[in-house]
Amino acid sequence: MIQKIKADLSLQIVTAVLLAAFIFIPVGSTSLAQNDIILWLSTNIFALGGSLFMNGLKMLIIPLVIGGLLTGIVGMSDLGKMKNLALGTIGLYLMTTIIALAGALGLSLLFDSLIGFGQVMQLPESGAVAVKETGGLAAMFANVIPENIIVALVENNMLGVIFFVVMFGIAAVQVSEETRLAVSDAANKFNDIILRLTVMIMKFAPFGIFCLMANTFIKNGVQTLLPLIGYVAVLLTMLLLHCFITYGAIVKFVGGLNPVIFFSKMREIWLFGFSTGSSSATIPVTMETAEKRMGVKPSSASFTIPLGATINMDGTACMQGAATIFVASIYGIDLTMAALLTVVVTATMASIGTAGVRGAGIVMLSMVFHQVGLPIEGIALLLAVDPILDMIRTAVNLTGDTAVTVAVAKRNNMLDEDVFNTPLDVLQAKEAEADAKIANTRQAHA
Ligand code: ASP
Repeated sequence: MIQKIKADLSLQIVTAVLLAAFIFIPVGSTSLAQNDIILWLSTNIFALGGSLFMNGLKMLIIPLVIGGLLTGIVGMSDLGKMKNLALGTIGLYLMTTIIALAGALGLSLLFDSLIGFGQVMQLPESGAVAVKETGGLAAMFANVIPENIIVALVENNMLGVIFFVVMFGIAAVQVSEETRLAVSDAANKFNDIILRLTVMIMKFAPFGIFCLMANTFIKNGVQTLLPLIGYVAVLLTMLLLHCFITYGAIVKFVGGLNPVIFFSKMREIWLFGFSTGSSSATIPVTMETAEKRMGVKPSSASFTIPLGATINMDGTACMQGAATIFVASIYGIDLTMAALLTVVVTATMASIGTAGVRGAGIVMLSMVFHQVGLPIEGIALLLAVDPILDMIRTAVNLTGDTAVTVAVAKRNNMLDEDVFNTPLDVLQAKEAEADAKIANTRQAHA
């Protein structure tokens, strides 16, 4: 068993998550969380280890997106394909978000009428929650065309970076065949280096993830979930239904692929999404899995995945739907049909505008509450349970990005079905073999 764990990165990550949960859920759920040694470990060791690892992942995002997109565009003979890919992806991202919202609203209303969300002993006073400026949707769309590409890179403005790289690639193709080949060659080599760097950083994942999980569990014991058990139960049910039924159907009926194989290859993405709580930071893992384990061409994955991590947040939409009904219920506010439709529209926009980072969804919730006239203070009630729910909805957000990516890639002939259908362990064995070959060649040269 130890040998097996040593050889398999995702087993190491599972072990890290289980170990952290086993040790630190009991710690976080009791007074041990205030113990001096635990506090010291949490602030000095786990916070540092977690930040170093998150930074390592985030450092890869921009180069991965630039390398992948550029390789794809300058290597693509038919740019019309890119347009179909873009339209299909955005359409599906939007459709799944609306399904998530409608489902979450419906399920929460049903639960409220059959069982009821119960009474919360003390409602928060006004001013209990500081509403941060979200920048709004118009600002987000304006960012699609960056005023300054360096600023877009520095600020991680993903939509702006994608736009610039796509336009740069299209222009390079139009200059001359010689330019196209030169850019293609340089982009390919750059991409190879960044992919190798990704593999190197992933080797630290078990340690980084252990630190992240340890700190989350120390700070948020499971006891925080209990007072809001109705809301938590409805939301978790909706997240599971959406994850397996909606995305299973997208993979099966839009992509014509086997959902069981799809889900069997999601393990690493789920673990990273769950432990980092950030779709953006997980982009390197999502791209690697989609390309190497599901057979999506890099030109396709490097466009649809960063786009999804930026605009497709179905797990967040589920939370916003359930939270709206929950807060309306405990404040005794009846939402009319028109108000519910407003929730669907604004929460769709809010989830598009939510950044793929920890806790962003709960901040955007204020936009929805504001539109339908719910008390913003209601959000304060949800803050205690949000960190744990955030980890789960991030994993769902990422499943949506990946499901749409494989389905759209398949429809546009940009997916290698042989790779998709090959079992994970066979692909992993091949990856290990390729790694060993590289190591041998290096030794032979030395
Ligand atoms: N943490 C989520 C994500 O990165 C966003 C949210 O807070 O809902 O996908």
